[in-house]
Amino acid sequence: MKYVSTRGTAPALDFEGVTLAGLASDGGLYVPEAWPRFSTEEIAALAGLPYAQLAQKIMQPFVGDSLTPERLLELTTKAYGRFAHAAVTPLKQFDERQWLLELFHGPTLAFKDVALQLLGLLFEEFLSRRDDHLTIVGATSGDTGSAAIDAVAGRAKVDIFMLHPDGRVSDVQRRQMTTVLSDNVYNIAIDGSFDDAQAMVKRMFNDASVTGQFGIAAVNSINWARLMAQVVYYFAAALQLGAPHRKVAFSVPTGNFGDVFAGYVAAQMGLPIERLIVATNINDILHRALSTGDYSAGTVTPTAAPSMDIQVSSNFERLLFDAAGRDAALIAQQMKTFDATKVLQLTNAQREAAAGLFTSARADADQMVAAQRWAFEATGEVIDPHTAIALHAARAAQGLPADVPVVTLATAHPAKFGDAVESAIGLRPELPARVGDLFEREERFERLPGEYDAVKAYVTARATPRHG
Ligand SMILES: *Cc1c(COP(=O)(O)O)cnc(C)c1O
Repeated sequence: MKYVSTRGTAPALDFEGVTLAGLASDGGLYVPEAWPRFSTEEIAALAGLPYAQLAQKIMQPFVGDSLTPERLLELTTKAYGRFAHAAVTPLKQFDERQWLLELFHGPTLAFKDVALQLLGLLFEEFLSRRDDHLTIVGATSGDTGSAAIDAVAGRAKVDIFMLHPDGRVSDVQRRQMTTVLSDNVYNIAIDGSFDDAQAMVKRMFNDASVTGQFGIAAVNSINWARLMAQVVYYFAAALQLGAPHRKVAFSVPTGNFGDVFAGYVAAQMGLPIERLIVATNINDILHRALSTGDYSAGTVTPTAAPSMDIQVSSNFERLLFDAAGRDAALIAQQMKTFDATKVLQLTNAQREAAAGLFTSARADADQMVAAQRWAFEATGEVIDPHTAIALHAARAAQGLPADVPVVTLATAHPAKFGDAVESAIGLRPELPARVGDLFEREERFERLPGEYDAVKAYVTARATPRHG
């Protein structure tokens, strides 16, 4: 399988190449040159497989020659063996129509673990074949940082430097990062906002005095391997609900458009998905883009669902590319305009193509709390604020055929956002036993000023050079 850039001028790479590269050299994102497709019979034959086996079968066409089927199965077995639920992503029923897909049974309590546990193993596998070393540099508002650190802590040939905004992540989120004391993990608390941290990371990716010496890598969802791993649970849920003989809808709490794009990929592969509902909080750039064609960034307003407090959705570029008939020149032009003006107008063709599968909805703080209360009062389920936004959208969805089940993706464990849950339903969710001693563990992190030169000096003094 070859991968091409959405902006058309970066070299095509194989799976190993895109996993280690992250962003394409022309600024675009890598996508498979064609979507692999499963027949109805092939999909029916996947029903009932254990998760790790299903994952190998779904991912093999994307991985191609980079891993044998036997080796890929060993890696999926190892990655998903660390989940606390034997089903990995268990499905629960709210009522005759509404379902909940729990994606938070990994080590750091958010769905990011599903992809990052595998990505950590893929990095190690591919680096062991070459004389090379990766330096992961990332900025996090909480969930990506802890999941990425857990996935690569103690692994050979990888360092990770994770920037978080000092004092602006929850205590649970911070401790999940700073109590990992492995030698290859560097936590940095930046005096500034998440956007400041993110801007410094982007600058480092484009700083030749850093990239000439170090193999700088990305772990956010611009990395194709992350999206690929997330395709699996759409199949897992739909198969349990009767696919391929019955259609299913999904409601997805969306920030960077990674998770819901994995649903789009599942549909391209032949999974009969009736609809993908893109649920946003009041930071609603995606709702505006999908409902009116206006993709224009405003300023971020902090909410109780911080992992969705985002105004630029990197992975939306992958949908724009496909929806434009893979016209890379058009995408390069649209993204150039967006970078300069923060405004992008979808073409009619892009709008129509997106409307074939996607609808969108926006939930404000009251609607989010109302969804948490409904789940608790009607069914006894305690859900986190991100999940609540998608549940609101699932229950408000119009025009779905009566026999189509609607699956809400539960992206975080409620205890990760204990304060918000307690203020919504009056009950404080307990941290699961596997992270229960989080508040007794020693923390280690460095505080740095929000200045690029200070961060660059810290990273370059500690990272291992590429061929070192
Ligand atoms: C990252 C995250 C999201 C948003 O996912 P995207 O792939 O960025 O759209 C939603 N909920 C939680 C809890 C998250 O951590």
